[in-house]
Order: sequence, then C-alpha cells, then structure tokens
Amino acid sequence: MSKKAILVAIILAAIAGFFIWYSAASKTSNGENNKLISKNGIHWHSELSIYIKGEKQEIPANVGIGAIHLPLHTHEADNIIHMEFSRAVRENDIKLSQFFKIWKKRFDSNCIFEFCNGETGKVKMFINGKESGEFENYIMRDNDKIEIKYEPR
Ligand SMILES: [Zn+2]
Ligand SMILES: [Zn+2]
Repeated sequence: MSKKAILVAIILAAIAGFFIWYSAASKTSNGENNKLISKNGIHWHSELSIYIKGEKQEIPANVGIGAIHLPLHTHEADNIIHMEFSRAVRENDIKLSQFFKIWKKRFDSNCIFEFCNGETGKVKMFINGKESGEFENYIMRDNDKIEIKYEPR
C-alpha cells in the first residue's frame, strides 16, 4: 500500500470510530430516548407483585399520596400502581424506578429491598409472564403484570 492509501484508511477508521462512539453516547443520554407517551395525560394501571422466597410482599396503600399527590401512587394495598398524569408524559416519568423512588425502597438488577444477588438468592423480573432484564429501567404500560422475585439460585 502507498503511504496515501494508509493515510486514507486511518482517516476512514477514525470516522467510523467516531460514529460508533457517537451513536453509543446518544443512546445513554436521556433526552434522545425519553420518548413522549402522551401530550395531555394518562390514567394507567400496572399490577406489581413482589415475592421474597415465595412470600408475597405487601405494597402499602397511599404510596405517593400525601401533602402532594404524586402522579405514580397506590390507593389500596391491592398491588395496583396508578399512573395519573394531567400533563405531557414521557417514558422516564413511568419507569418502574420512579415508583420505587417514591416508595423509598431499593430495586435494581442486584437487589430487591435488602435482598441482593448472592449465595442466598437472585433477583428476577417477569413482565406479563415473560422474564425481563430491564429491572428498574422498565417503562410501565397500561394493564401490565409485573412480578419481581427473589429466589434461591
Ligand atoms: Zn389515583
Ligand atoms: Zn387509577
């Protein structure tokens, strides 16, 4: 190869590298992927069931309802998360992590409450019966059945 050809190859590789980096970087930024769900509000419900070693955990009534009525909340201790917005709604507004933040409990791919992946068990998540790897990043949909299980390995 001539020197010129090598130089061209290096430049092309650099350009390709930039585009790979750029597309990876834009995927992690919130703005680009935080899609609009509705312009003028939603009233959706998801059912959330949490099992620790087979035992169903209670989600209390009135999570998110206090001095301020938050868009994500429970009314009864019936495992139903209400998503009630009267404004524009974006995907980040209805991520499962938002509910856990309001509830002040831990949930991610490693832990549910104080139960973490390790010798005693592993966190698993199911959406409408199918295993999911999205964990706290899951964007809830109307009528979803979400199950979080901490089970022995
Ligand atoms: Zn409500
Ligand atoms: Zn409701």
